[in-house]
Amino acid sequence: MSGIASIHDTSEAHARSLDAADPLSRFRERFCIPPNPNMPNESSVYMCGNSLGCMPKAVPDAIGEMCEDWARLGVEGHFEARDPWYPYHESLREDYASLLGAKHDEVVAMNSLTANLHLLMTSFYRPTKERFKILIDGPCFPSDVYAVKSQIRSRGFDPESALIWVKPREGEGHLREEDIVGAIDEHGDSIALVLLAGVNFYSGQYYDVPRIVKAAHASGAVAGIDLAHAVGNVPVSLHEWDADFAVWCTYKYLNSGPGAVAGAFVHERHLNRAGFKEMPRYEGWWGNDPAGRFMMTPEFEPVRRADAWSLSNPPVLGLLPVKVSLAIYKEAGFANLRERSIKLTAYLESMIESVNDGSITIITPREPERRGAQLSLLTGTHGRELHTKITEAGVICDFREPNVIRIAPTPLYNSFHDCWRFAQLLGSAIA
Ligand SMILES: *Cc1c(COP(=O)(O)O)cnc(C)c1O
Repeated sequence: MSGIASIHDTSEAHARSLDAADPLSRFRERFCIPPNPNMPNESSVYMCGNSLGCMPKAVPDAIGEMCEDWARLGVEGHFEARDPWYPYHESLREDYASLLGAKHDEVVAMNSLTANLHLLMTSFYRPTKERFKILIDGPCFPSDVYAVKSQIRSRGFDPESALIWVKPREGEGHLREEDIVGAIDEHGDSIALVLLAGVNFYSGQYYDVPRIVKAAHASGAVAGIDLAHAVGNVPVSLHEWDADFAVWCTYKYLNSGPGAVAGAFVHERHLNRAGFKEMPRYEGWWGNDPAGRFMMTPEFEPVRRADAWSLSNPPVLGLLPVKVSLAIYKEAGFANLRERSIKLTAYLESMIESVNDGSITIITPREPERRGAQLSLLTGTHGRELHTKITEAGVICDFREPNVIRIAPTPLYNSFHDCWRFAQLLGSAIA
């Protein structure tokens, strides 16, 4: 257990004083925290930012303005709107690059996560008779499993022999990175693609991504990263990590609203490679070099950017909340948020342990550098019942079959007091 977790004061006053001492506490005011249904004047204990982040208060007015521009300008809004629509996705590039540790040309705002995964696997999963397997970490999010299995089948292979899952060892709550590296070594030259989460959705484990990318490359495989639970949560350095491609969504820690526009990354070395134009890729007019986009020629000239994989003109209403959210991240500063996040998670962990009768095991790694703003509580057989009780008491968090309660103390809007309240309610539910 970390130092912060072992020396603690469980009083409410202490939680209040931690909030008062942290300048980042002011950002909570920028968000709508859903009210507690039992006490409408009080907010719920919202611990679900890993699933859907709270709405920034600035979003409705900004959407209103965009609609006014649409009403007033019609098609002219592409260039004349206050925030013109034609290049709208461009205005996210810098913030994406900075959060993802990428170069500007390596990132693009587009589609949803699973759609992007398919688009990039089309280019980066190139199975041959000898090298056709995909290795994933388990438990793996179902959408990724469906995407991977359907890609395998569409190339004429069988998921039964082509899909390798590396799972936690019997009796352990999260994966050992050495087991991932071991599996890569073991299957060696039959692996075409290693598709790894940045942060595992179930356990909240933040992997040593560069170590795994290195092992994948050493065995001759491509490395793709799913950052759904990592972006806006833990430090990400895609360029330096040397990942070949990555995808993420923006409605979890990035608070951009249900189904908000996602993102994709393609490493610069692929953008600069010979034969870039000929890479197998699904193509659309927004992937074309902008200089020739309106020439309306039948010949596709991919722009040497991640944008080469984008298909359509930007869905500005879906991009707007992403832009609003990223501006808040920028204002707060990611390094500051990470520092607060580490403290908040450790505090929550210590508060949970103070009410734990031994029936709950935290399966998220204990080391701050191996996790972000999530704790996964492995319960006994009473998991459902516990979840129902705390939900009725005003907590919003989720339950994942068969017996895990996931809670996310997000640094932008959760307070130390939220963590304190959560532990009180969990304690009462256990009793
Ligand atoms: C949330 C999440 C998704 C969701 O996919 P969408 O295409 O955005 O619906 C996919 N994969 C992982 C790992 C996730 O955590």
